[in-house]
Amino acid sequence: MLEYPEARARVLTAARFLGAESVPLLESLGRPLAEDIKAREDVPPFAKAAMDGYAVRAADTRAPEGASSVELEVVEDLPAGRVGRKAVGPGQAVRIMTGAPLSKGADAVVMVEQTEKSGSAVRILRAVRPGDNIGLAGEDLKKGEIGLESGTDIGPAELGMLAALNRATVRVARRPRLAVIATGDEIVEPGERKAPGQIRNSNGYSLLALALGAGAEAEYLGIARDRRSSLVRKIRGAGDVDILVLSGGVSVGDHDLVKSQLESVGVRPVFWKVRIKPGKPVFFGVRRRQLVFGLPGNPTSAMVTFMLFVRPAIDRLLGRKDPGPRRARAVLTEDIALKPGRRHFLRGIIEDAGPVLRVAPYANQKSGVLRSMVRSRVLIEAPTDAERLEKGREVDIIFIE
Ligand code: AMP
Ligand code: MG
Repeated sequence: MLEYPEARARVLTAARFLGAESVPLLESLGRPLAEDIKAREDVPPFAKAAMDGYAVRAADTRAPEGASSVELEVVEDLPAGRVGRKAVGPGQAVRIMTGAPLSKGADAVVMVEQTEKSGSAVRILRAVRPGDNIGLAGEDLKKGEIGLESGTDIGPAELGMLAALNRATVRVARRPRLAVIATGDEIVEPGERKAPGQIRNSNGYSLLALALGAGAEAEYLGIARDRRSSLVRKIRGAGDVDILVLSGGVSVGDHDLVKSQLESVGVRPVFWKVRIKPGKPVFFGVRRRQLVFGLPGNPTSAMVTFMLFVRPAIDRLLGRKDPGPRRARAVLTEDIALKPGRRHFLRGIIEDAGPVLRVAPYANQKSGVLRSMVRSRVLIEAPTDAERLEKGREVDIIFIE
């Protein structure tokens, strides 16, 4: 039986970057950039007021010997969005609003709270230094500087940066198209009538959500029954998606037909069974460039194997530099007893109070208990041969994202 790192490596070998496309700005969210984004002008493009107040020459704001304040003549009123016509000369000020281009001659802004209006003049109650309360041209990015590097995942800040850099369209990785099929005679969709002996389909939804979260374009194809014809119809219905994910039916039960039916439609097996817990019966195969995953049906096994195998495949198809799942180290807060022979991925609860990450195993580690995934934010990875992990020891953790 394969060890996890070897099985993951085989998935990555079969998965290839799908290439790039140009898309409208908003559609880039959640995908890696496929070009370096340079600033074509300074950001911000001009020096500006960072406060509502008065643009001044800082040297003019110092009160003369014996006086507690100084008065300046107000020569213009400048809202944001307009360029001033007047320069600030000695003894002068411009009334200026936040975001307005700093008037010529001025080198600071006095906050309105530190002034008093007096007719056509303004009384400055507190002196400022050059640079106070202003933003400089190019202080975010200089013209020609790279604002975002190719490969960067587009999140909220990156999307804002693209907009700031005037990119209405942007080159990003093509989204992998992924389809999810749930299998089983016993499973029923939410909202439908449930007969005795039946359970709700949860995997269809949790797996779809994991796929969307990873940046795939995911479609849910519904439930295939544990019959050859039903399975083959659903598998064919998926067409030429980049990734096909099935849940259930990959074990050794009498009605576990997924593997044989995948092979019957031309899927070449790469591996079946990996030395892990949960998720041992996981299947991976390829049909031309399509990657096909048969994940075990237990709700936790399905999610864990998605994270361990499908997530890195999506990352590779998107051209991400470090395919997932994302890892860190944490200190165990409890002893864990294990049955050696398989690499365990235990659901773990992070205690993030304190300078180091600390992790405790969730109380119920059975693979049918979906609540363990609801409560946990990480998986604790325990080596194949470990019989126990002692409290205080550092362990590998994997983020559930
Ligand atoms: P299987 O892998 O098909 O042997 O299923 C293992 C366990 O997971 C069984 O208890 C199934 O009833 C359950 N199961 C299979 N598919 C789903 C699903 N889509 N949602 C929730 N539970 C499932
Ligand atoms: Mg089944």
